[in-house]
Amino acid sequence: MLAHQDDIRIAAIIVAGGRGSRSGAARPKQYLDLAGMPVLARTVAAFTEHPQVGRVLVVVHPDDHDAFRAAVPGHAKLLPPANGGATRQASVRAGLEALADSGVDLVLIHDAARPFVSAALIDDVIQAARIHGAVVPGRVLTESLALADTEGTRGQTLDRDSVRAVQTPQGFRFATILDAHRRAAAEGREDFTDDAAVAAHAGLRVAFCAGESTNVKLTTADDFAQAEARLLASLADIRTGQGFDVHAFEPGDHVVLGGVRIPHDKGLKGHSDADVALHALTDAIFGALADGDIGSHFPPSDPSWKGADSAIFLAEAIARVRARGGMVAHLDLTILGERPKIGPHRDAIRARIAEITGVPIGRIAVKATTTERLGFTGREEGLAALASATIRLPFDMRGN
Ligand code: MG
Repeated sequence: MLAHQDDIRIAAIIVAGGRGSRSGAARPKQYLDLAGMPVLARTVAAFTEHPQVGRVLVVVHPDDHDAFRAAVPGHAKLLPPANGGATRQASVRAGLEALADSGVDLVLIHDAARPFVSAALIDDVIQAARIHGAVVPGRVLTESLALADTEGTRGQTLDRDSVRAVQTPQGFRFATILDAHRRAAAEGREDFTDDAAVAAHAGLRVAFCAGESTNVKLTTADDFAQAEARLLASLADIRTGQGFDVHAFEPGDHVVLGGVRIPHDKGLKGHSDADVALHALTDAIFGALADGDIGSHFPPSDPSWKGADSAIFLAEAIARVRARGGMVAHLDLTILGERPKIGPHRDAIRARIAEITGVPIGRIAVKATTTERLGFTGREEGLAALASATIRLPFDMRGN
């Protein structure tokens, strides 16, 4: 048994190097959006949010570094991704080698396509790995089990009690699993489909802990559809927030609206880049969260926001939705002013907002209106923007 848990260092390796096509999608399944958040981002968060896990390393396909950066937000525990190999086994070995000199005592090895792993299961795997040195979650099956021959004919009935469906995360003493992987590779074996099999091949005794029926591996299009339906059903707290902002014109040669630089014969005056559209959107999201406003999160008195790209503000509001386990269902923006004309820039603005927020462009509306030459916008003294944001959060009886 290893030392007290406070003294041991625990890392997680998430294997995301596959390019599997059984989901029927053009992109690797771990980068697909699942109810407003990429699968891999959900899987990574399960480990970065776990208090006992100190380091998280994702092993990616060498061609997927851009996809990884786009899908997974940075975190203090998250290491730069390692490049995977030709097989799952080779990818895990690459991850282990990347951690070889980092003083890790225990390692959890997990599939990227299992985003629903619970904190309780991670606890159980850590605890059992501390005791046994090697552990895998195994789920007892409820169906009757039988062998099938190559013609698809039913053969012998199997004893249900002697069979487990093997899941991840699998937990190991770091030094022993690294050694087991090195030995398997040295023997030319690259065909093990999980790390417990590598460990068993090296002569290690691997214990079972209880798996979870919710810890499914997303493989087929049907798996995705079912998981998305479950997630959306759980995001039952549907909220709409509104935002409003005004900035005055000053001498200049462009304005920044919705993150897009638009040439104009005036500029907008403000502490940041004065992007009235992104400010209204940001406040709409803070409104839906009931979490202050742009001024309380980014005080104009703070010199660090001088001239800031307002994308930072919007990205922070979105991060707060995701931190609550929620998603943005819809963003709707109206820009009020006589000039510049917004129509020619509408799709560029929608694309930029999609890029900043990760919200699909089909859920982002950008509209514009004049105010019939009435009021401050009609006199071209400044621009105003209105926004609404619809978000979905996990239902919480306390309303928090
Ligand atoms: Mg403003």
